Amino acid sequence: MFASSSYSLMYNAAMNLKKLSSKLEELQSMDESVVTSLYALSSRSLLVLLLLVTLSTVALYPILHSSIIFWFLSLVILTGYRLYSAYIFKKDPEKYSIGVWYRKFILNAVMTALLFSTIGFIFIYQVDYYYQLYIVAVLLGLSSGSAVSLSPDIRLNIGYAIILLFPLMITMLFLEDTPLHLILAVSLFLYFIAQVTTIYKIYTQKEEFNTLKSEHMLLHSLFKNAPLGIFTYSKDLEILECNTQLGSLFEHEKETIIGMNLNTLPDSRIVETLKHSLTQGPKSYVGPYTSLNNKHFWIDAKAFSFTDTANRIVGGVGMIEDKTKEHTALTELKYMVQHDVLTGLLNRRGFKNHIENLVNDIKHETFFSILFYLDLDQFKSINDSLGHGIGDDVLLIVSKRLLKLLDEECIVSRLGGDEFIIVIPYISEDRNIANQEAQEFSRELQDIFLDPFIIKEMQLHIQSSIGIVLMEPGYTNTEEIIRHADLSMYQAKIANDHISYYDSSLDKQQKDLFLLQHDLAYAIEKNQFELFLQPIVSVKEDALFSAEALIRWQHPTKGLLSPDDFIPLALKAGLLSKVTWWVLDNICQHISQWKKENRWQLEYVSINVNAQQFVENNFAIEFLRRLKEHGLDTKDIMVEITERSLIDNFNNTQDIINELRRKGVKCAIDDFGIGYSSLSYLKKLSFNTLKIDKAFIKDIVSNPEELHLVSTILDIGRQFNYNIVIEGIEDKKQKELLLALDSNLRYQGYHFSKPLHADEFRQAFLK
Ligand code: C2E
Ligand code: MG
Ligand code: MG
Repeated sequence: MFASSSYSLMYNAAMNLKKLSSKLEELQSMDESVVTSLYALSSRSLLVLLLLVTLSTVALYPILHSSIIFWFLSLVILTGYRLYSAYIFKKDPEKYSIGVWYRKFILNAVMTALLFSTIGFIFIYQVDYYYQLYIVAVLLGLSSGSAVSLSPDIRLNIGYAIILLFPLMITMLFLEDTPLHLILAVSLFLYFIAQVTTIYKIYTQKEEFNTLKSEHMLLHSLFKNAPLGIFTYSKDLEILECNTQLGSLFEHEKETIIGMNLNTLPDSRIVETLKHSLTQGPKSYVGPYTSLNNKHFWIDAKAFSFTDTANRIVGGVGMIEDKTKEHTALTELKYMVQHDVLTGLLNRRGFKNHIENLVNDIKHETFFSILFYLDLDQFKSINDSLGHGIGDDVLLIVSKRLLKLLDEECIVSRLGGDEFIIVIPYISEDRNIANQEAQEFSRELQDIFLDPFIIKEMQLHIQSSIGIVLMEPGYTNTEEIIRHADLSMYQAKIANDHISYYDSSLDKQQKDLFLLQHDLAYAIEKNQFELFLQPIVSVKEDALFSAEALIRWQHPTKGLLSPDDFIPLALKAGLLSKVTWWVLDNICQHISQWKKENRWQLEYVSINVNAQQFVENNFAIEFLRRLKEHGLDTKDIMVEITERSLIDNFNNTQDIINELRRKGVKCAIDDFGIGYSSLSYLKKLSFNTLKIDKAFIKDIVSNPEELHLVSTILDIGRQFNYNIVIEGIEDKKQKELLLALDSNLRYQGYHFSKPLHADEFRQAFLK
């Protein structure tokens, strides 16, 4: 009964052991550190083993004689060999691979255990009870001693205990002559279980210790090497520890930082974050920070608390990252994105941001603001004729003068090119006052152009056109506001004082223009253009020399439109060259028809060409090709180019005109005198006719000074050998005054004839 219950006890314990061993498989892994510890720990325990072997031999020799001597010698040799191996391992670990060293150790340890255990199942039969007890005690002692020395290798450790104790246990069961033996066997087994459990515990604790140790080392190296300033602080905000990076970041000795109380820092901005993290969880602060040395930083600081083993907060950890470079780069980038490189004013994007802020501000709900859209007149000519460098200088001077005039609250921006937008925010809640202010400001804005712009010893007189929008309180559609300003600026271009206020009729005009532009695109296909001709005659006897071809548009709903109503539109819409080729083909057809009918008695017919069309490839080639197609001579058609378009496109014009002239095409400067071209232009271009604008003729009768001016212009024209045609003679008196000036002049005017439809012209003048 006693025996069977002790068997089942042992069976259960054995099952538990089996489970444990599979767990051990998972735990154990052979690596270098295991082998090193095994050898390191072995020396002392081997010496103890030697002592134990000697004592046992002395104790058992009187009974066992030579057989125990044999046992003694074999163990001494084996232990000696193991001590020698441990010595070699220490001196020359490279002698064998780590695997070989490990296997050697295992083999030797197992052999030692086997040899030693023989006293427990061979010699034990030959001695009496006292000696048997002595043997049990020795084996137990050896097995418990090995628990420490073999602790690095859990499997070997348990195996060692099994070899030492199991044969002894079994022997005890067979020595069943007293119940004490059985009790001893069971006790041995229980002891074995206890030892295995202890071994397992030692092992897992060691593992945990190792993990903790490596975690600690990781944390330590993080603390030491992280590219951040790290410090710990107590609940009283005293710095307990810090790494060298914190010292070098703020240029302080580590020693001066440790012990410092954070409450005493002159810049208290991060203190709040550090305090907060102690009571309410992790917190961060990103922003400016001034160090003790008064250096300015942009930092990213993070703080969190740490606890003791009882989970009580005992202090905090602060981590500080220097983000000054990133912040500076970002600030510069933000600035660049929102500012114009040339003038440093806000660019389109920067302006949009500011205006959005303005209209979303609570003040905008009751206050009027004023927006000025300012555009320089004839800036393109400055760029084209004097170069972009001078153009840039002009823009710079404008921006400086604007900044000088306006105070800081105003938004000043350059949208691109020569367009500036100025906003004076929240001027008044009263519409009348706001209007008055707008008037005053617009005058002040124009006044900044009074002084000439002196650039590279040149004096440039520049004018501007200003569109004004009174920004209604509460109106937030900024796109619309800008569009309105743009519209009014275009209106300002043609206004006398170059200032225009936005009103809704401008929108209507704009829409009408848009629709007209749309119709224009189909005017040719729908055959809506008509050709008119106005005769050019001599002042002396009204003898017909030539004529000018002038286009008209028979619009389906608006009636007969004059070129001034649609030529600028055609130019803007890129349709003007189509118009020119229509006029050319049409007049060529007429001329060749008249030639066939023998009616052609004119020197030439002139057509109007905008110089911008010269930008198109091969204007001259195309022009000549069309003349040839209609069988006309190059001298039959004269090309009139307005002085204005000539100045705006001077660079592209020169070569084309010279080429046309080489091929025998006559060219005229049209509307001469109002574009203020300099004499150098006249010298450079080989024109042969000058058409003096009707504006000069208008008042010659009433104002003798005007007549004098015309006389001066005629002198210039004669100096360059131009034929001169005067435009706009409406009455006899004007003609007589001109005749008195120069009898060789030719003129074109209502006095002789208005422009006539080509068929009427033929009937009236080509008989
Ligand atoms: P322009 O080339 O200077 O043509 C002369 C303009 O003066 C014509 O106006 C003509 O009708 C007008 N005129 C002639 N004599 C008198 C007068 O005694 N008194 C007044 N008040 N006006 C007179 P129109 O036909 O309305 O043409 C206006 C302008 O449109 C032209 O000025 C020309 O620059 C442009 N234009 C006309 N046809 C064409 C064309 O086919 N192509 C281009 N690019 N422009 C054209
Ligand atoms: Mg003309
Ligand atoms: Mg003209």
